Amino acid sequence: MSEFPSLFISHGAPLLAIQDGPAHRFLRGLGTQLGRPAAIVIASAHWETDAPLVTTSAMPPTIHDFSGFPPELHQMLYPAPGDPALGEHVHELLATAFPDAHVDPVRGLDHGAWVPLALMYPDAGIPVLQVSIQTERGADHHLKLGAALAPLRSEGVLLIGSGSATHNLRDVRGFNDQAPTAAYVTTFTDWLSAVIEGGRTDDLVHYLERGPDAGRSHPTAEHFLPLLVACGMGGPGVPARRIHSSVTFGVVAMDIFAFGERTWCSP
Ligand code: ZN
Repeated sequence: MSEFPSLFISHGAPLLAIQDGPAHRFLRGLGTQLGRPAAIVIASAHWETDAPLVTTSAMPPTIHDFSGFPPELHQMLYPAPGDPALGEHVHELLATAFPDAHVDPVRGLDHGAWVPLALMYPDAGIPVLQVSIQTERGADHHLKLGAALAPLRSEGVLLIGSGSATHNLRDVRGFNDQAPTAAYVTTFTDWLSAVIEGGRTDDLVHYLERGPDAGRSHPTAEHFLPLLVACGMGGPGVPARRIHSSVTFGVVAMDIFAFGERTWCSP
């Protein structure tokens, strides 16, 4: 069975689902480039809990966890099935590392999960499970959270962390596509790319102290931590690289990183 790289995807604003742009177009082609996994397990910035949870719903509902966007977006559904048996398996993997891990049989898919997946796999035919993040437990915890899930890659499962390469909403001045890119966004994402492609996981864990403009790029940690999850999901020492780079609204970086096999698509 083919092994997929683990991915970190910047999901940006929910508008990504319906508004054309470089990241929108890249994600639309990414599913075809990757091929179809047996299932998808995705850790989104928009599901924060005290302990690690995994969804076990057979039919996870689409959660519209945003407001003020076009009605078209509020009406969008992503009716991918769940996979309760895989959910129990994921729970076992999580519980080995985190005894307080448990399952959530009710929770659906938030926009951090369904927006990119609606572009990558628009038929919604692949089972999707979500795993929660624990922002209070810090960066190293999320590396371990991803590592606990890494064995799923050899079972044909696509593992994804969904957040944002930069995420300072105070700097968003309306959803203006023409806004020039803020200097700190380029500085931080170029550092991030060098760190990831250089395999400098320790720098990634200590991003707040070592990353230039890291505090401005991530005033809160929840959109950065899925990157640590994706890194852990890839496994130690695997090659990693930035496979997409663009910026929306001048300040929301849309970088996408792949951890694992290098051969599945060209730069
Ligand atoms: Zn988000």
